Amino acid sequence: MTGKQLRKSNGIAGAKPVLDTFLGAGIDVADAKYVILGVPFDGTSSFRRGSRRGPAAIREASQNIESFCLLEGIHLDAASLPIADIGDVSVRPRRVEGMLRSVETVVAQVFPSRQAIILLGGEHSLTLGAVRALSHDILVLQFDAHMDLRDSYGGTSYSHACVARRVVELLGPEHLVQVGTRAVDQQEYEFAQAQGIRRYTVQDVEQLGAGAIAQRILDSLPRGLPIYVSVDMDVLDPAFAPAVGNPEPGGLTSLQLLTILRILAPRAVALDVTEVAPQYDQGLTALCAARTITTFLCAKKSQPR
Ligand code: MN
Ligand code: MN
Repeated sequence: MTGKQLRKSNGIAGAKPVLDTFLGAGIDVADAKYVILGVPFDGTSSFRRGSRRGPAAIREASQNIESFCLLEGIHLDAASLPIADIGDVSVRPRRVEGMLRSVETVVAQVFPSRQAIILLGGEHSLTLGAVRALSHDILVLQFDAHMDLRDSYGGTSYSHACVARRVVELLGPEHLVQVGTRAVDQQEYEFAQAQGIRRYTVQDVEQLGAGAIAQRILDSLPRGLPIYVSVDMDVLDPAFAPAVGNPEPGGLTSLQLLTILRILAPRAVALDVTEVAPQYDQGLTALCAARTITTFLCAKKSQPR
């Protein structure tokens, strides 16, 4: 079950419209500045499968939270926010390379002239497909308990555990910043050290404060370089987001994540929210994912870049 499909076409090859859209948005992409796309794929999940159900769960949660943003004084309704939800990418179970090509194709069709594209995961591997479709002159800001810097995992180099490694190969190590890191393998650690990949651990966020971390990232960002924000929901402590593929204690609070995101969103052109496996909780993790996206939209809308 990945959400009810609509028979109506949205004019986008490779994306099937769904009935229950994010925030109840329309499916017509023509005038949309913000485009939502679901990726119901969990073919390389290594521990707790189920993130293929993430897009439907995040959409459902989005329809049950306040769509007025207090801090910005903005209402995220269809009338004031030019947003479209074009549905889900067509994927086949376990065909990770096919999924990556589909994501790349759809993102390449819709990205030009948009303020931002937002992807609903699905497992974290999808990020590579989207990054491939964008200009390579971007900074990938990865919120994640893990580094995802393995060269290969579970017999594939396109596993969710390898996605940051592939991004580094594509963009260069200076184009990746990791936040919330706490669970790594020694080889990943050595690779990250050798490549000089910047990271902010949970302890860094605790000690410096979420706002200061966001400001540091902004200050180090070359003028005009846009950000791709990739959120693996396991960046949050399992107390906030228990329903993820690979939960890891000792994580960020939901407020820390939202605080950093609110400051950086105006510089971002893409956001993905991945690894929600909704059967492992009562809807809390999907709610955090939906709130992550609405926070991003409000912050972007109030301060256009
Ligand atoms: Mn992770
Ligand atoms: Mn990840």
